[in-house]
Amino acid sequence: MKQPVALILHGGAWDIPPEELEAHREGMARALEVGRRALEEGRSAVETVVAVLRTLEDDPAFDAGVGAVLNRAGEVQLDAGLMDGHRLDFGAVACVQRVRNPIEAAWHILRHGAGQYSLLVGPFAEAYAEAHGLQIVPPTYFLTERERERFLRLQAEAYYHSSQAFRGNRAPRGTVGCVALDSEGRIAAGTSTGGAPYTLPGRVGDSPLPGCGYYASPWGGASATGWGEAIARVLLCGEAVRALESGMSAQEAAESALARLAERVRDPEGHPATGGLIVLDARGRFGIAYNTPRMARAFWSETTGAVCEV
Ligand code: ASP
Repeated sequence: MKQPVALILHGGAWDIPPEELEAHREGMARALEVGRRALEEGRSAVETVVAVLRTLEDDPAFDAGVGAVLNRAGEVQLDAGLMDGHRLDFGAVACVQRVRNPIEAAWHILRHGAGQYSLLVGPFAEAYAEAHGLQIVPPTYFLTERERERFLRLQAEAYYHSSQAFRGNRAPRGTVGCVALDSEGRIAAGTSTGGAPYTLPGRVGDSPLPGCGYYASPWGGASATGWGEAIARVLLCGEAVRALESGMSAQEAAESALARLAERVRDPEGHPATGGLIVLDARGRFGIAYNTPRMARAFWSETTGAVCEV
């Protein structure tokens, strides 16, 4: 029987305002097409995830790469992680401000870390990326007027807990993620983000941490978005993949991991933690779950064709 190839991606779970829906839909569709072509050309699952996330990092609609949210110092800080489920290995960067495509730095680390380093941070990660020929840009490259204005609004508030960003329509959460299954049956998963708006400089959430913001094994993979401190506490993506390994379908795995997040973690005002995740199993079946008003997502397989939903 022919090995099915498949691909699923997300562009953040939040209350995407009506005027931003089209940009999210277009961005998802464009990245899905990049991934579909990569798989059809016989590229590996890891290469496909990198191609998709690079496209989304370059798209200002999302909170990753260009268009990322600003921290309390008014600066962009970016995190990304990538896992090869076949080799059970990962590469990640956190808190970088000058690497044009953080997912490419994560990929380089995945290929060359060889068990000696898997996650590099801040200026050290930037120096590593530069030394290995990745594109370095000034921090202002990532800045958008939309995010500068949001920063000024949040700065004017007397009290701001970053979990508030993960409720209602307070702030964007266009973290991007992707899981792919290639023609050799290998799974890869990755996530890239500008993190939460108006956080402390140096704060790192779930996105670059394996088992939290993404995870992959020979059984399947997952990528998450939402309140990072909550996602890390329940190991959201690790839980989803463990559920797949115990025999659940991709949809059941996504739903059970999300239920665990909402049941176990509350914000300071007692509201259940919010977020979303995508899951893909080694047979090419998808799972999607979120407890926010919307989540931008798209998937493709030969059975389903291309589907984009926001
Ligand atoms: N999970 C990301 C973080 O906490 C943000 C998001 O997904 O919107 O850094």
